[in-house]
Amino acid sequence: MTTYALAGNPNAGKTSLFNLLTGTRQYVGNWPGVTVERKMGYLKKDNSVRIVDLPGIYSLSPFSLEERIASQFLMNEEIDALINIVDASNLERNLYFTLQLLELGKPTIMSLNMMDVADYHGVKIDTNKLQDKLGIPIVPMMVRKGRGLQDFINQMKEAKPASNQLKYSKDLEAVIGEIITELQRSSQLSKQNYRWLAIQLLEGNSVIRGQINDPAIIGIVDNIIRNFEDKVAAPVSQLIREERYSWIHSLLAEVMVAEGNQKKTFTERIDNLVTNKWLGIPIFLLFMYLTFQATFTWIGAPMQDLLDGWFSGPLTDGAVGFLTLIGATDWLINLVVDGIIAGVGGVLIFVPQIFVLFLIISFLEDSGYMARAAFIMDKAMSKMGLNGKAFIPMIVGFGCNVPGVMSTRTIEQPKERLVTILLSPFMSCSARLAVYALFVGVFFESYQSLIVLSLYILGIILAILSGIIFKRFLLQDQEESLFVIELPPYRVPMIRSLLLNTWDKGKNFIKKAGTVIFSMAVLIWFLANFSWSGMVDNMNDSFLAALGGIIAPVFAPLGFGTWQSGVALISGVMAKEIVVSTMSIVYGAGGESIAQLSGYVTAAFTPISAYAFMVFVLLYVPCMATIIVMKKESGTWKWTLISIAYSFSIAWVLAFIIYQVGNLIL
Ligand code: GDP
Ligand code: MG
Repeated sequence: MTTYALAGNPNAGKTSLFNLLTGTRQYVGNWPGVTVERKMGYLKKDNSVRIVDLPGIYSLSPFSLEERIASQFLMNEEIDALINIVDASNLERNLYFTLQLLELGKPTIMSLNMMDVADYHGVKIDTNKLQDKLGIPIVPMMVRKGRGLQDFINQMKEAKPASNQLKYSKDLEAVIGEIITELQRSSQLSKQNYRWLAIQLLEGNSVIRGQINDPAIIGIVDNIIRNFEDKVAAPVSQLIREERYSWIHSLLAEVMVAEGNQKKTFTERIDNLVTNKWLGIPIFLLFMYLTFQATFTWIGAPMQDLLDGWFSGPLTDGAVGFLTLIGATDWLINLVVDGIIAGVGGVLIFVPQIFVLFLIISFLEDSGYMARAAFIMDKAMSKMGLNGKAFIPMIVGFGCNVPGVMSTRTIEQPKERLVTILLSPFMSCSARLAVYALFVGVFFESYQSLIVLSLYILGIILAILSGIIFKRFLLQDQEESLFVIELPPYRVPMIRSLLLNTWDKGKNFIKKAGTVIFSMAVLIWFLANFSWSGMVDNMNDSFLAALGGIIAPVFAPLGFGTWQSGVALISGVMAKEIVVSTMSIVYGAGGESIAQLSGYVTAAFTPISAYAFMVFVLLYVPCMATIIVMKKESGTWKWTLISIAYSFSIAWVLAFIIYQVGNLIL
């Protein structure tokens, strides 16, 4: 068995190459100790070659969690060889990482990817010369089109340690030598590449430092570095960086046949528009509006009607027929139709909308637009003193708050990260979309997209305002982390990757329907149909009505003080879709259709109280899964609970204002 580790800068095409090499023969696990995705797979038609995908990183100096993982991996795991994927249109920056990989001294092969993009920019690379210079096999490729694959596979066996590595200046090499001598004293490091370790230590790679785990050696090494820095009066990491770049520049001077042309690229022309100071945000909002138009009006809604018809028609009839046939009792039929089909089906009918939404979001991500959205939001947010990096977890949170919270791991500063975790639940996730879909369909027929857009924007605005507040408490005099966002060139997304991406985001919604929502539907049906004296004829006498009645007064000033709304909101803490599920059950929509449910909802709400209700659902409390992950990622119950209490208060006050003021005006 030969294990290749696949490494490269973000956006160099790592995932594409990994998929190409392994086909479907891959599996996903977590990195030891952390829940960051780790992909592994076997080479197509060759079980003896294993490929492990490293997180995409710019350098080995551990500024982010990904870089930390990569350092640890390269030091500890048994790897036989390295595949370095390089973006040919971005050679200078990519080679900086290559250089560090080569210092490891492992057999290496390079996939020089994106030759088409380099071509387009007029960049010509003499690959043969580059290959000679570095002394490793280099295969020019267009991974996306599968170009160069066979050649690459053939050459994988030829991977070898670089014959020509950077020799640093005499002074630096002398220190490197001194450190190597120290490291050689430690018995546990015998399998390591001393030179690589020494350079990483000089650069201040804290992960490597931690791994060496020998205070005596580290003490001496620190001393060596201190003496050296005193002598040259500069940080040694900076010297290393400068020498690396000058080495890369002289290398590029030899292998680049032509430099980039001056004509404005397609990407640059679009970027002038979408990242424009004045137009950027309006264009972003326009995209969101069109997204909701497609979700609610053009594509999603008609598909929803079809599903609705099927659930309330053939499926219900079939279930009733079958249950009657096997002699099921009335209450069982009632449980299946009015409990399970109503409760689970009531949520599942929104699957088309949710998938359309995710498909569009995936498209915006894959095409490169989302990076621009983050870029313009960063500008806006940094004016308010916030870190723009927070916007990426926010966008992820539109799908589901759980991965949203997890993606805050890219933020290095612990307190900034905490602030972002606390804000994540303000992002309107797809589960809440099911609630909006129900209400806008009934009350705001002609303005569906605008109403939903207003809720998303409200969430973003509140998140930003709250960020400013939390920052006050948490982030006094703290050094801010740097936000550099990469603006990848625009690309037409590949259908396959779009669909995979969409499924990845949406599958959770379906999974939840089969688990939490199913169980809750059964539970709610029981509570809604029984009381101490057995089965009830009128739900108003049930356990559920009693329970909802207790808290209903809290919501009366907000315009939805019925027991039904009360229980819908309580059960919605488990998962927001359950608000819809509960309403389907308590408003007795089973066996009928959403259109029927609408009738009851119309009686219980007015447009104003419906809007207040949606705002309340957006904000009142994160769902159980989000709460758990917030606790886990922030490490504190204190701040998790403060965040919940805080958002509940805001939800109540806002819904109160909307309902009361709305009724005054309209
Ligand atoms: P990763 O971030 O390194 O995992 O990169 P991905 O595999 O996700 O690729 C980033 C983007 O580059 C995707 O949109 C790919 O479709 C695209 N891509 C990959 N290889 C090529 C190529 O050879 N040419 C072009 N034009 N695009 C490519
Ligand atoms: Mg990737």
